[in-house]
Amino acid sequence: MITLDHVSYQYDRQDAALNDVSLSIADGELVAIVGHNGSGKSTLAKHLNALLLPYAGKVLVDGLDTSDPENTLAIRQKVGMVFQNPDNQLVTTIVEEDVAFGPENLGIPSGEIRRRVDEALAAVGMEAFAKKAPHMLSGGQKQRVAIAGMLAMNPQVLVLDEATAMLDPQGRRDVLEIVGRLHKKGITVIMITQHMSEAALCDRIIVLSGGHMVLDGPPRSVFAQEDILRKAGLDLPPVVRMGALLNAGGMSLPLCLDVEELAEAIWQYSCKM
Ligand code: ADP
Ligand code: MG
Repeated sequence: MITLDHVSYQYDRQDAALNDVSLSIADGELVAIVGHNGSGKSTLAKHLNALLLPYAGKVLVDGLDTSDPENTLAIRQKVGMVFQNPDNQLVTTIVEEDVAFGPENLGIPSGEIRRRVDEALAAVGMEAFAKKAPHMLSGGQKQRVAIAGMLAMNPQVLVLDEATAMLDPQGRRDVLEIVGRLHKKGITVIMITQHMSEAALCDRIIVLSGGHMVLDGPPRSVFAQEDILRKAGLDLPPVVRMGALLNAGGMSLPLCLDVEELAEAIWQYSCKM
């Protein structure tokens, strides 16, 4: 679905914000991109829907080269982006109008728009708020409306650029649950996050550091590379760190990604004592 082939990007008079990054993401994958502040995550995200074009290398979205202006519209329909600040993404004064905004700009007939808006609001559990004013909503609810606005465009890929960063724990849980559901429905989801415990929920984690891709693999193999993560300014998720501490204290537990798994591993270990 997405291919980056030796992509580099540089803002004016800066070091390269992306440095020779090559990766591909298949249709239907749930991928986390993690990295310290300034590591290039947002720069990479903006390459996925032609908001930025590579200085060197190539980005293909569903086979379409982002640097060909003739592809821009098709690419923007395929890749929906949700950003960090919920207040910057809602443009109208009524929730359902906001969700309809994208499809209206695509010139979709009004009956079809109605259907898409209802479906998108239901997908994020915000049907009851259709007639409400966005400024009356919580941060988490606003992000859900922003996601609905993208879904109404029928995207194949959803990119969330630290979309949970400004949310309270409940808002964060709600957005993560929706992400899980969309992934199950077959949408390709790319979740950019600074929370390693959120990355642990994905099938695959890509780690950026100083514009370079330093790790790419399933959570278990990425979290086993503690030295590389530390150099990239990242911590292990709390559960993985706890397992490592127990091992340092003399136990020998496998790498566990959640509390239940760790509890089970400790139980198995104690049975063998
Ligand atoms: P992240 O999203 O991981 O925090 P960014 O992709 O925003 O990282 O930034 C990567 C690098 O590019 C940083 O050094 C940042 O300062 C620089 N950068 C980002 N946006 C701009 C911009 N609009 N102009 C100049 N430099 C920028
Ligand atoms: Mg960013």
